[in-house]
Amino acid sequence: MSFKFHGGVHPPDKKSPADKTQVIPLNPPSLVVIPMSLHIGAPCRPAVKVGDMVKLGQKIGDSDAPVSAPIHATVSGKVTAVEPRLTPAGTMVTSVVIENDGMDTPCETMVPHSEEELSDPDAIVALIREAGIVGMGGATFPTAFKITSGKGKVDTVIINGAECEPYITSDYRTMLEHPEEVLGGIRLIMKACGVSRAIFAIEDNKADAIALLKSKNSENSGIDILPLKTLYPQGAEKQLIKTVTGLEVPPGGLPAAVGCAVFNCFTAYSVYRAAYEGRPAIERVVTVAGSAMEQPKNYLVRVGTPLEYVFEQAGGFIKEPHKVIMGGPMMGVAVHDLSVPVIKGTNALLAFCEDETRTVENPTCIRCGKCVEVCPMNLLPLYMYMYEQKDDYAGMERNRLTDCIECGACAYNCPGRLHLTHSFRAGKAKIAARAAAEKARAEATKAATTV
Ligand code: SF4
Ligand code: SF4
Repeated sequence: MSFKFHGGVHPPDKKSPADKTQVIPLNPPSLVVIPMSLHIGAPCRPAVKVGDMVKLGQKIGDSDAPVSAPIHATVSGKVTAVEPRLTPAGTMVTSVVIENDGMDTPCETMVPHSEEELSDPDAIVALIREAGIVGMGGATFPTAFKITSGKGKVDTVIINGAECEPYITSDYRTMLEHPEEVLGGIRLIMKACGVSRAIFAIEDNKADAIALLKSKNSENSGIDILPLKTLYPQGAEKQLIKTVTGLEVPPGGLPAAVGCAVFNCFTAYSVYRAAYEGRPAIERVVTVAGSAMEQPKNYLVRVGTPLEYVFEQAGGFIKEPHKVIMGGPMMGVAVHDLSVPVIKGTNALLAFCEDETRTVENPTCIRCGKCVEVCPMNLLPLYMYMYEQKDDYAGMERNRLTDCIECGACAYNCPGRLHLTHSFRAGKAKIAARAAAEKARAEATKAATTV
């Protein structure tokens, strides 16, 4: 049985024909650029210097902070630079640049873990941390920390196989091509979390994956494979919890508040590979699609691979793209410089020929309420927009602008073509900047009065 969250939309799924073809392993590029922040939390300190020779899977960055995840070399070769480089988010981040020697010489640490280790929940958490596994659906929250912080509070693991954004089929292909590994990864996550129940939630537009996983799932595994009716943004954490359990995560709260922990399907696959192959999080299946690509396909891409190399290997653009997006068309990030690298949470690269955002010259609100109808967070987007445009902080707060998950459902449904999601991102940045300025002012005042 499943429940329904408020709102949601049905954008055309545009998944075929990428979902018909096998994942193609992409030859690694001659140079990889690996940012020392590939996760939410503290960035890593580089553990290598220019001139060092590194092996595939060797740890090249780590941090003592609890919310962080180590970073590994994604090719073997020579470190040619450790310097700030541009990331897909548009920020400059210290990055390790490795010249690929083409050998893929594996690091000695890349060995399978013993059955004894894999029966110990703490050892599983430790290997997940060491492998640098993060939320591979795009959230990039460190998986080991999610497990340890939920211990004693979580009784249900939810595996997110919704993949509800248009175009993206990378998790779908992973389910079809590696069902046993995905299920094995889920069992390890359950053991690490100390729970006996997992729900693998998959949208019913992936019927063959659902049937395959059901056929591979043993009766006493504790894993329920739950087909869901398609609805965007069902893959968002809070909406998935509501759909699967009927429970609402309180505003500003975490899934553990309702006894749940949500992991992406590719995260489960990565856990399996780390446990049984000793392979850290050095690659991800990426859907490469959009109207600027001749043939949409899925590729297994090493982290640190420049986007321009991925597009080139995928056959190049049929026409100069108007827009390139990392992630899906609803929640993805527009990328303006194709030299930036693939990161751990990159599930798709989309290139579009035309402006497909349906913009108009003078976006105008006609007070139709269609944005309110579809907001999965029960917000009032028209008012949030109005207050953001006026820099009215009290209005933004009253209307819970910071609760917006930036899913884009309101903008998709808006006949006035207002740039709603963009406005809410800007509003959050303004609120954060104002809070930081207030904090700095308070500290300066305190310092002045204590002199
Ligand atoms: S959907 Fe667009 S036009 Fe309609 S009320 Fe919301 S913001 Fe205004
Ligand atoms: S982008 Fe924000 S306001 Fe708009 S529908 Fe999604 S959660 Fe609601």
